[in-house]
Amino acid sequence: MPDYIFGPVLSSRLGRSLGIDLLGGRICSFDCLYCESGPTLHKTMERKNYADPGSVLAEFKDWLAENPETEPDHITLGGEGEPCLNLGLGEIIHGVKKLAPHIPVAVLTNSSLLADAQVRKELMQADTLLPSLDTLIQDEFLLLNRPCCGLQIHDIIRGLQLFCNDFSGQVLLEILLVSGINDSLENLEKTALFIKDLQHQRVDLTCMSRPGAHIKQKAPDHKTLQDWRQTLKAAIRSVQVRQKHPVKKRSARPSTILDSIRRRPQTLQQICTALGTAPGETATVLETLAGNGEIQVHDNGKHKFYIIKGN
Ligand code: SF4
Repeated sequence: MPDYIFGPVLSSRLGRSLGIDLLGGRICSFDCLYCESGPTLHKTMERKNYADPGSVLAEFKDWLAENPETEPDHITLGGEGEPCLNLGLGEIIHGVKKLAPHIPVAVLTNSSLLADAQVRKELMQADTLLPSLDTLIQDEFLLLNRPCCGLQIHDIIRGLQLFCNDFSGQVLLEILLVSGINDSLENLEKTALFIKDLQHQRVDLTCMSRPGAHIKQKAPDHKTLQDWRQTLKAAIRSVQVRQKHPVKKRSARPSTILDSIRRRPQTLQQICTALGTAPGETATVLETLAGNGEIQVHDNGKHKFYIIKGN
């Protein structure tokens, strides 16, 4: 049973993305109201080897050997928290690129550690950075992202700016809007000003698709979303993605499906596309897992998401 490698999962921004969990648990510098992984269990800014780099790379090497015909579009460093908290981040990016030089490496981050010059240096080795920055207003930041004590949004903003100035890869900035919290006109104006000079490729606006760790769905109304989209020239994230690499069909293994859902709630179609499993067989496995009480279904009115029970 893999500990650190999961997926591939279908990502709206990265295509079929093979995930590497750098934490091994719910460890994060934030405890966002909207987090889809559930409440943060260990809130910290302390960098440690939460996942041992040697073990992570050995597992990745085994995965490559066992899946010679499955080529993900990206290898994405993430997990159920903030991956930059792993002290071995630089070593892991270097090792992954050495083992799979032809597959781009992406890193998901909440941007909180970008104020640290050492973290910025380690991230320079990546091909794509996906930082999130929901608000530029300290009060909204405290309310929405519930960061570690003492974290200041202006330090994070400065860190992101410094990183983007020097980075030669692509930066895909993500903003998650929650109605009544960070969809204010003041935040929109500040964000528009900030990204005007930011070296980035794209801004993705997103909203909650299911209840988060601490609140139910609070998506802004259509007009507010359109105002944000037009002002920032942002894309509104969609789950429809084109596949660059067709996937060879694989059998639906309950452990692989569980492992994938644990890191990210997904629809049946997303699971099948990402893992290359047949819909009928996958649906049967999902029914069994739901019957056993291991997963549950959340229907947001448009899509049915499969999530780990208790999240
Ligand atoms: S959404 Fe991301 S940054 Fe926020 S608590 Fe969850 S893992 Fe941490």
